[in-house]
Amino acid sequence: MLIVMKANASQEQVRSVCEKIESFGFRAHSIPGAQRTAIGITGNEMELDPGTFDEMAGVQEVIRVSKPYKLVSRDLKEEKTVVRFPNSEATVGGVEVAVMAGPCAIESREQALTTAELVARAGARFFRGGAYKPRTSPYSFQGLAEDGLKILAEIRDRFGLLIVTEAVDNESLELVEKYADMIQIGARNMQNFSLLKRAGRARKPVLLKRGMSATLEEFLMAAEYVMSEGNYNVVLCERGVRTFADHTRNTLDLSVVPAVQRLSHLPIIVDPSHGTGKRNKVTPLSRAAVAVGADGLIIEVHPDPDRALSDGKQSLFPDQFDQLMVEIRQIANVLGRSVAATVPNPGARRPTPVSTASGTAAAR
Ligand code: PEP
Ligand code: MN
Repeated sequence: MLIVMKANASQEQVRSVCEKIESFGFRAHSIPGAQRTAIGITGNEMELDPGTFDEMAGVQEVIRVSKPYKLVSRDLKEEKTVVRFPNSEATVGGVEVAVMAGPCAIESREQALTTAELVARAGARFFRGGAYKPRTSPYSFQGLAEDGLKILAEIRDRFGLLIVTEAVDNESLELVEKYADMIQIGARNMQNFSLLKRAGRARKPVLLKRGMSATLEEFLMAAEYVMSEGNYNVVLCERGVRTFADHTRNTLDLSVVPAVQRLSHLPIIVDPSHGTGKRNKVTPLSRAAVAVGADGLIIEVHPDPDRALSDGKQSLFPDQFDQLMVEIRQIANVLGRSVAATVPNPGARRPTPVSTASGTAAAR
């Protein structure tokens, strides 16, 4: 059930409705919108009687929600959610197309800092890179854990990039929340409900990747888990689903972008790197993602992809990323959106110089 307050309802009236909801043992989620505040009700016990609220001061209408998801729904909030970050101009879900870029994994301080400087210069506002890597094989590189997070924190300080990195369990989430600006929940964990609930209690925005065989409804329900715990800053991410097609690693389902936007107010970004698994397909699918209306991109870039410890084959060379940014800036403009400008000297605050990796644009 959803309670829509009148446009001129007072804070007091909103509070009384919330208190009433809570007195029945439910949780009230008051979501202010441009026109009016709506209050979502969650809890899985008995049905509430709409008549209980109909007559309360400030209430416009009481709506029964037939869909299984409530808080993620456009019924609750008509206008799009814009996720913001303290002390930063960056947004996800606003006019600007958010670009998150960086290596699959943080391999070393030098590799990470080199990549960060390159992507910051090209205009990315977010730096991605795993410190905890969910790998198919237990013998593959598993990430640098907290040491990796410390490198990421250093990158934020030096280049002003916002850090997005994955938490794979409750323990790593604790640390990711401490060091990063955005907590990534990976495809493999999209239905790890205890992790989703823990992310819902975190005070940082969550980047929720679509499970590799998740339907749209399952995807939205995973976001509902996070929101039901009180964290309303959720960004969805399409990263490809498994199909019979074998010309790509996954099949990037760009049609999910408008499908999500029809049902939900949450921003949705696209990951063409994991979505295709092949470097030569990352640029075309990035262009398409911006054209289809995605709120952002998350892209793997490595200074020396041939020597990457994970996902080298899908990582762009730095010059390819530069060119991609030039192109998506133009595509975004057609749609009345923008992509942040290049930053000639992102390391202006750097206390010491960073040596660059030896990798160059070799055979692709
Ligand atoms: C990643 O972004 O590093 C990652 C592992 O992606 P996914 O969870 O989509 O496979
Ligand atoms: Mn990867």
